[in-house]
Amino acid sequence: MSEILVLAEHDGESVKKVTLELLTLARRFGEPAAVWLGGGAEAGRERLAEFGAAKVYVADGDGVTDYAVAPAAEVLASLAAQASPALVLLAATGEGKEIAGRLAVKTGSGILTDVVDLTPGEDGPVAEQSIFGGAIVVKSRVRTGIPILAVRPNAVTPEASPGPAELTPVTVELSDAAKGARITDRVAQERSERPELTEASIVVSGGRGVGGSENFALIEKLADSLGAAVGASRAATDAGWYPHQFQVGQTGKTVSPQLYLAVGISGAIQHRAGMQTAKTIMVINKDPEAPIFELADFGVVGDLFKVVPQLTEEIAKRRG
Ligand SMILES: Cc1cc2nc3c(=O)[nH]c(=O)nc-3n(C[C@H](O)[C@H](O)[C@H](O)COP(=O)(O)OP(=O)(O)OC[C@H]3O[C@@H](n4cnc5c(N)ncnc54)[C@H](O)[C@@H]3O)c2cc1C
Repeated sequence: MSEILVLAEHDGESVKKVTLELLTLARRFGEPAAVWLGGGAEAGRERLAEFGAAKVYVADGDGVTDYAVAPAAEVLASLAAQASPALVLLAATGEGKEIAGRLAVKTGSGILTDVVDLTPGEDGPVAEQSIFGGAIVVKSRVRTGIPILAVRPNAVTPEASPGPAELTPVTVELSDAAKGARITDRVAQERSERPELTEASIVVSGGRGVGGSENFALIEKLADSLGAAVGASRAATDAGWYPHQFQVGQTGKTVSPQLYLAVGISGAIQHRAGMQTAKTIMVINKDPEAPIFELADFGVVGDLFKVVPQLTEEIAKRRG
């Protein structure tokens, strides 16, 4: 069976959810082999095994995690030459996409980014992609080299299926070029109890309709009742009502959750670019003509200050 390389995202110990999604996707096409850069592979191995990794290539030498981005592309290129994988899968994060681009150049292969689904086709895997700021969804196929695919977080539901996850050390000798940008410090991001925005399976976002920073407490309460992440439109972040790191859209984060709740958001094309691949979209807006309703699976036409507290209360009741 062909090997599928999956670049593991981890914090040196635990594996990020997107990697479990990529392993699930990889199993559609062959035998998943995770690629682990840096230390901590023993700690992450169990989780990778649970989601079907046959092998875990571990590259932990020559300061592989001391330099930005380039070492990952070199390790993957060397593995691609040795193992001749059928596909290479990475997360379509900022870093993942940059590694994918460099890998494509090194291996002379085609690359597709922002993939939201991948299905077997007669002449190889067919990717569904969200392009032009999310305005158009296209189906594409790589025709040159080893297909390199950067897949958006939350595009697939992770499904467990045990694999041996055999740890396989890889010798790395980084080129001088790969050591061009050294990481001098790492600062842990302050984390709230809420899930990470791009990884959350439910996102509740507030827009200009929320009317002020103090009112974002309503959005947070609703999010907490659902175990969701909080997002915001650019109108809300530009106004200083919510931090910029939570902005969803073309110039913010791209999310693809199971459920996206847009509260007091009109649905400008730039906002849609960041959320329209959500599996289910629910809208609360007082204007029945708001363009966001075109995307909605469920919509409530009403004042968010009345609807949101009632919804939060009802969810809390049902969850006991
Ligand atoms: C280059 C560029 C990049 C951009 N990038 C982004 C981006 O990444 N993300 C992004 O979001 N935007 C982005 N924008 C801005 C975008 O064009 C819109 O201006 C923005 O998304 C509007 O935000 P909004 O929907 O919250 O506000 P509005 O468009 O003002 O909509 C507010 C909505 O709230 C509703 N409302 C008001 N009061 C209530 C109430 N009490 N109850 C219920 N509903 C109510 C209104 O009916 C309205 O539909 C970008 C723009 C440009 C030019």
